[in-house]
Amino acid sequence: MKLRLYNAILLRSADEPLCSGELRVDGGIIVGVGAPDKQFHADKEIDCGGNLLMSGFCNAHTHAAMSLFRGIADDLPLDKWLFDRVFPMEEHLTEEDIYWGTMLQVAEFVRSGITCFADMYFFIDAVHAAAKNANLCLALCCGSNSYSDYDIIEFLQKNYHKYSTLSDRVRYFPGLHAEYTCDEKLIADVADFAAESGAKTYIHLSETLKEVGECTVRHGGLTPPQYLHKLGFFDNGGLAAHCTYADKDDIALLKQCGVTPVINGGSNLKLASGVAPVAAMLSAGLAPALGTDGSASNNATSPFREMYLYSCLQKEALKDAAAVPAEEAIRAATETGYTALGFGGGTLRKGNFADAVLIDLAAPNMHPASDLRKNLVFSADVSNVLMTVAGGKIVYDRGRYDIGESLDDIYSQCEKRRDRLRRQAAFV
Ligand SMILES: [Zn+2]
Repeated sequence: MKLRLYNAILLRSADEPLCSGELRVDGGIIVGVGAPDKQFHADKEIDCGGNLLMSGFCNAHTHAAMSLFRGIADDLPLDKWLFDRVFPMEEHLTEEDIYWGTMLQVAEFVRSGITCFADMYFFIDAVHAAAKNANLCLALCCGSNSYSDYDIIEFLQKNYHKYSTLSDRVRYFPGLHAEYTCDEKLIADVADFAAESGAKTYIHLSETLKEVGECTVRHGGLTPPQYLHKLGFFDNGGLAAHCTYADKDDIALLKQCGVTPVINGGSNLKLASGVAPVAAMLSAGLAPALGTDGSASNNATSPFREMYLYSCLQKEALKDAAAVPAEEAIRAATETGYTALGFGGGTLRKGNFADAVLIDLAAPNMHPASDLRKNLVFSADVSNVLMTVAGGKIVYDRGRYDIGESLDDIYSQCEKRRDRLRRQAAFV
């Protein structure tokens, strides 16, 4: 299928100048960007109406099916949120729950311009089926811990080999939930598996002050990144969600190990966990990616809100309104996530995946168009998304979804399952 999206203002990457032009797509891959090419004969032509066409967003950290828990674990302290609400419901999740919960999130992703996501949750075959329905890029991240009732290395071997060779739009990351839920042998075994398979790892890291304090007590003064490094966990690099309390030495270590921090500003703010030191990471040469975390802790998966927080939380934390400009937020929401997850995308460049989002410039919040990058980060929101293209397929277009399931079915399935989970967790 050859697709031509013409009459657009192109934001090719966070840094390149904007230009008018078109995007040409063949077989899900960008084959041309910029000036028209009369030799290209498209099967389908789309007039972008002078709106902004840019890369789709990458949500580099989420637990998609936690959409089922949206609105039933709010305004609670972190330990109550986790132990009284989330864990009791998670115990009863079935594979079908995960499928429908992920479908709800997939609908929200395409509505929000997200074309790529990294998911850490259960029943990954169901997660994959839901992502495939919408042609989204999917990075499956193992989130096992010492309480998991199966052989984790066997599980990793099976899934790594299955999902690493399945499709260019799927990746698998061996990993663990977090330092505080995993014993030393397990961390060392996963590190060995990563070393043998040449894989990057994925983990929640230094999300709260409590986590860092307890880790230093348990492990002779070592912070979570230092402890994991000692066990070889990051020997091939990796991704680490949160890094809220990474200090100067931790940041230098993450840089040295090739670890990409994934910043979840909205979730950290709502759970009162803290503000990640993004400006210090950027100064040290790290390129953080953006995540939303799950819908029980955020509760929206909006890349616009996350870009805003990525920039503005630093301005407030440092009392410096020049800190982390809009362009950095755009880069974190697109290119760095795609690159860290090993996908060819995140910019509108020839050879990349045709993952793109069309942003409405006719809306009042985008006027005047003095600087579209600043508008995108500081005034745009999900309502500005007109169309989302994933691997050359139009999965969302002005209220119409092409994601393999109807919204009515997704909503009724999710409500039914949410009711059952509440009953089973006994807190109706
Ligand atoms: Zn998380």
